[in-house]
Amino acid sequence: MRRRRLTIGLLSMMMAASVAFGIQGNDVHAASKKLSVNRVYENATRINGKTRKKNIVRVKIGKKTYKAKANKKGKFTVKIPRVAAGKKYTLKSYKGKKLYKTKKVYVIAKKLKINKYTPNSKSISGYTRPSYKVKVKIAGKTYVKKASAVTGYWKVKPDNNKKIGTTVSVKVVNTKGKTVTETKKHVHDYKAVYKTVHHNEVGHYETVEVPAWDSEKETSHYFCLQDGFDLTQDYLDSVKNKTYPDYDEETKKEWGYTEENGYPKNGYDALVFTNNNMEIDKFAPTESMYMGLHGWNGEHDGHNVGTKLVKIKIHHEATTKQVWKVDQKSYDEKVLVSYNCDCGSVKNK
Ligand SMILES: [Zn+2]
Ligand SMILES: [Zn+2]
Ligand SMILES: [Zn+2]
Repeated sequence: MRRRRLTIGLLSMMMAASVAFGIQGNDVHAASKKLSVNRVYENATRINGKTRKKNIVRVKIGKKTYKAKANKKGKFTVKIPRVAAGKKYTLKSYKGKKLYKTKKVYVIAKKLKINKYTPNSKSISGYTRPSYKVKVKIAGKTYVKKASAVTGYWKVKPDNNKKIGTTVSVKVVNTKGKTVTETKKHVHDYKAVYKTVHHNEVGHYETVEVPAWDSEKETSHYFCLQDGFDLTQDYLDSVKNKTYPDYDEETKKEWGYTEENGYPKNGYDALVFTNNNMEIDKFAPTESMYMGLHGWNGEHDGHNVGTKLVKIKIHHEATTKQVWKVDQKSYDEKVLVSYNCDCGSVKNK
């Protein structure tokens, strides 16, 4: 407020001075300084306008400055490279070396320009002719926005912070209510598509040594009740060591002996071998014979016997076995196949 009052004060003082001294200067009458510019459309290659006669008009576009001299009537044409909608430039009119007047120029879209967006964008914007209406359809909902009266800029933000999505329809309606442009824009939204590749287990067999080992088991033996002698063990030892007695053919026959099958061993006579982890020796006399004879030497009373559980050791020889060694566990691999958009467009990896 203070500054404004000061400016007005200064201006009225200067006006008073010019009246007093009869000076008619453009420098003082700011309002009468002329710099008008015709509307500049996108892709234009010249800027036309009017300013004070013989003035030089300059405009910086990018890094270069373009200029033109106004003719006697003040008309000028500045040749420029193609310009894009939405760009803003400042024209400067010089009287000699002195800046005379500046003016901002906005490049106007001929029909419709939509600024770059992604399907994840939260808004969509662009340019059209100033004051035209833009109807933007996003996910079935239509948003109506009036473009800026100066720049033609418009911007639409979907409700609830929603994303724009891949497909947008834009309609431009002129100031008389007539639809002048209608467009549908699709921006691909590529999403990675994977497939699962199963890899089988890879391995090989290795020969592994299993060392010799002993196990124990319990089985029942006959014992002499007079002296505690293990009769079954004595019998089995005689089989192992082949120290059992040999009989004449007649006695053998009485026990059922044959050249081919030896002594028949039924029931416990067979079981005593397997229970004690021995192969049945068919040519050895039976345990029943041993018991009946009170031991091979007849020293024990084969009728005065009892049974007792004894622990026997079973020896297992060292062996080898084939063991499967896994070199690579089976696994599922996620393999990228392509990138697909909802519209069916496929971009290979
Ligand atoms: Zn697409
Ligand atoms: Zn005895
Ligand atoms: Zn291996």
